[in-house]
Amino acid sequence: MSAVQEYTALRGSELPAALVSRMIQIRKLHAEMLDIIHEMGSRQIEEAAEYPSRAKYLSDLLRITTRRATGLIAQAEQVAETVTPTGYVAPAVLPLVRDALHEGAIDAEHVEVIAETIKAIPGWAGTENKQIVESALIETARISDPRVVKRYGRILLARIDQDGADPYQEDNLAEPANELHIQTQPNGWVKFRGTIDPEAGEVFIGLIGELSLPQSPTEGVPDPRSVERRRGDGFVQLFHSAAQIDRKTAGGNKPHLHLFLDLNTLLEGIGTATMDGGAFLPASAARRLACDAGVIPVVLNGDSVPLDLGQEHRLVKPSQRNALIARDRGCAFPGCHLPARWTDAHHIKLWSEGGLTDLHNLVLLCRRHHRLVHHSEWSVRMVKGLPYFTPPKWLDPQRKLLRNVLRQ
Ligand SMILES: [Zn+2]
Ligand SMILES: [Zn+2]
Repeated sequence: MSAVQEYTALRGSELPAALVSRMIQIRKLHAEMLDIIHEMGSRQIEEAAEYPSRAKYLSDLLRITTRRATGLIAQAEQVAETVTPTGYVAPAVLPLVRDALHEGAIDAEHVEVIAETIKAIPGWAGTENKQIVESALIETARISDPRVVKRYGRILLARIDQDGADPYQEDNLAEPANELHIQTQPNGWVKFRGTIDPEAGEVFIGLIGELSLPQSPTEGVPDPRSVERRRGDGFVQLFHSAAQIDRKTAGGNKPHLHLFLDLNTLLEGIGTATMDGGAFLPASAARRLACDAGVIPVVLNGDSVPLDLGQEHRLVKPSQRNALIARDRGCAFPGCHLPARWTDAHHIKLWSEGGLTDLHNLVLLCRRHHRLVHHSEWSVRMVKGLPYFTPPKWLDPQRKLLRNVLRQ
């Protein structure tokens, strides 16, 4: 009977056990294969065959990639025993892993994960710690998949670091060497790169993850942004909001940036404006920034004399913001997930065009959608006290009114 008939003759309930038994056989054979690879290595078979490396030799012999061959050699180094010419058997580097693999109880993937973890144990931690980790991970590997073993390995590594007296580690915990390099490009864009400690990294990655979720499809069109673009937008939202928190704790609405522009720029949207740092902005961007409570527009007449445009009426009062949160609950833009803490109040009729700071003229928008509403053909209007959005023609030729369905 061929192998095919053999298993087609099995009952459905017998198939899982048949599969497991095959897997155990493969793992046992894998263990034997590693022993042979190790033995070939100690006899330097590849040199006799005039190969520059063992990986290249195995790659040709077995018709596998050199990458896979390198992996097999690395595994063999961890789990194979060495028999000396005098017949002495030197134990494997990871003897418990070896035993479990020869029983067929663990997979090659487990071997890799355990070997990686043990390699990451700092030198000062000693062989005793290595044995403890190996034994704990083997116990886990016998009952769990390699991802669980990897996670448990990280926990064990963190414990060793905490209990250990490694002076470098201690210093690093007291004052981690966080770094951020910032470089302003000639075109005004800012480049940066940096490194932050694992704890801060965890918070950072968590927040960026929350802020870079893809937007729900609008009119059946999915979020067009790549994951890098979404993360970039999330990152900008992060410090945009941090700047606001700073302002709130500093007592009310303390703006943090000045925007200098003349009356024509504000009213007609022509010309340019300058910021505190001297950066130039196009008028449309200036008008958006004038919408932001964090920015004080300093409007100048033709002689560069500041005009009084009644700043106090421009800013949203805390009671108004609460009412907006009750109404919009977060960014009101169709499909946006971001909750209220990440939003600004946008003036539907611009403040500079006489738009009032009252609930009927305000809508909560995250930073990205605030930009979109100011700089694209998307527009907002109030219908029966609720904000509705009109998509650009390219998205919906009929330009139907949309609500954020996530908030209904
Ligand atoms: Zn706005
Ligand atoms: Zn939004």
